[in-house]
Amino acid sequence: MVKVDIKYTKLFINNEWVDAVSKKTFPTINPQDESVITQVAEGDKADVDLAVAAARKAFHRYSEWRTLDASARGLLLLKLADLVERDAKYLGELETLDCGKPVKQAEGEVVWSASILRYYAGKADKILGNTIPADGDVLTFTLKEPVGVCGQILPWNYPIPMFVWKIAPAFAAGCTVVVKPAEQTPLTALAMAALVKEAGFPAGVLNVVPGYGPTAGAALTHHPDVDKVAFTGSTEVGRIIMSAASAVNLKRVTLELGGKSALVIFNDADVDKAADIAHRAAFANAGQCCVAGTRTYVQSGIYDKFVAKAAEIAKARTVGNPYEDVQQGPQIDTEMFTKVMGYIDAGKKGGARCVAGGDRQGKVGFFVQPTVFADVSDDMKIAKEEIFGPVQSILKFETFEEVVDRANNSNYGLGAGVITNDVTTALAFIRHVRAGSMWVNTYEHVTPQTPFGGFKESGIGRELGEDGIQQYLENKTVSFSLPKKPLL
Ligand code: NAD
Repeated sequence: MVKVDIKYTKLFINNEWVDAVSKKTFPTINPQDESVITQVAEGDKADVDLAVAAARKAFHRYSEWRTLDASARGLLLLKLADLVERDAKYLGELETLDCGKPVKQAEGEVVWSASILRYYAGKADKILGNTIPADGDVLTFTLKEPVGVCGQILPWNYPIPMFVWKIAPAFAAGCTVVVKPAEQTPLTALAMAALVKEAGFPAGVLNVVPGYGPTAGAALTHHPDVDKVAFTGSTEVGRIIMSAASAVNLKRVTLELGGKSALVIFNDADVDKAADIAHRAAFANAGQCCVAGTRTYVQSGIYDKFVAKAAEIAKARTVGNPYEDVQQGPQIDTEMFTKVMGYIDAGKKGGARCVAGGDRQGKVGFFVQPTVFADVSDDMKIAKEEIFGPVQSILKFETFEEVVDRANNSNYGLGAGVITNDVTTALAFIRHVRAGSMWVNTYEHVTPQTPFGGFKESGIGRELGEDGIQQYLENKTVSFSLPKKPLL
């Protein structure tokens, strides 16, 4: 077992490390061996109140943060990106300890996160309003202004990237922030907070309050002095957050929620290549990926060949100690492990054909065998509900129209993919399938520049790209009366 130094376990408020007001702590668990890694300060309403007060003070019109040049905000983000890269190995190892993903993958996500910080660093001094040829003798223009104090609630599946997706556009826009990391993975958010301080961000611009959703998270979403809530997590909690955000004031809300994305493979595809893309779409991050392509629709002409290949790749997938050279570590916690095993059971009992995996792996830790079900039908539980585990469902189809209807037959609309060499088929698919990200002959290609988010119950708003920063800006329209006659 790799020994990882845990430097920060307290709350981060106003650039200080503090205990929770209640003095309470909670354990964070290693998903590899189910041991307690450490105790972390447990934030609650009293701590959220302190954090929001610090963020509000840092947002005051004459504060150091508000009076910084926009380009200086960009330079702070660039400095932070350098520090994140400097510590990439350490951050990757800490991430693996807390959430179990393979360490190479974790380190790659840290480097990717640095590129997102740099992208938004470049945006900080390019926030432009418009001049508008309005009716009447007025000069009209718009100013883009920061939304204000933002509450940002994170999931556990990509802790560092999610932290960066949230803070980078907020800081570029000039907002201040209170982050609540997921209770399963508080450690890297705290390590990132230390780097934000080291980079030189003024006190109160970032505050991090670990704790549980119904306590710390709910305190943030109900707080009258929070202007916006950004959330990534389940659709179920997204609904709670949306209603909480309108209970005491009317917070701006962005939601990145669940998915049940379809990847559709037509007869003309190269079966080996398609099976490889589909495998990565379904199994990336042990299937704990909101946009995972978990419904693999395969046209009847290549169906049998595809199923055999998909099973072969899944059986060869390496699962085990995430500090070793494996493709898959454990699921995040006992709750998700039990949930995923329940879906595998439902797949078997529901009549799907299990062609790979189908069981837990080992006796200790939350490891699940990469599992492939063939002959899945749309009405089965495993085809309808988000599993959030290493489970691929393969469904057979005959025609284009049929598969478009079936792909759209979901309350979710986060992502979709199509594999074909026929450009007309690909374009028609893109046009008629309702999802926020569409991929052709690839899957899950997400970069700092590409807006990401969902149609339907997969969310509201977009993160990344230009859209990402717009969600942290208010539009102020200014109409300036012009004299009707010459002044002199
Ligand atoms: P979750 O919704 O249970 O928790 C997410 C966060 O919300 C955690 O920080 C949690 O403490 C907090 N929370 C829970 N209840 C709350 C409440 N009442 N008020 C305020 N905050 C509360 O989800 P999870 O188990 O962490 O993640 C898995 C789910 O997230 C999956 O459904 C997945 O699809 C989704 N997800 C979506 C995306 C995306 O980009 N769309 C990314 C990652 C995960």
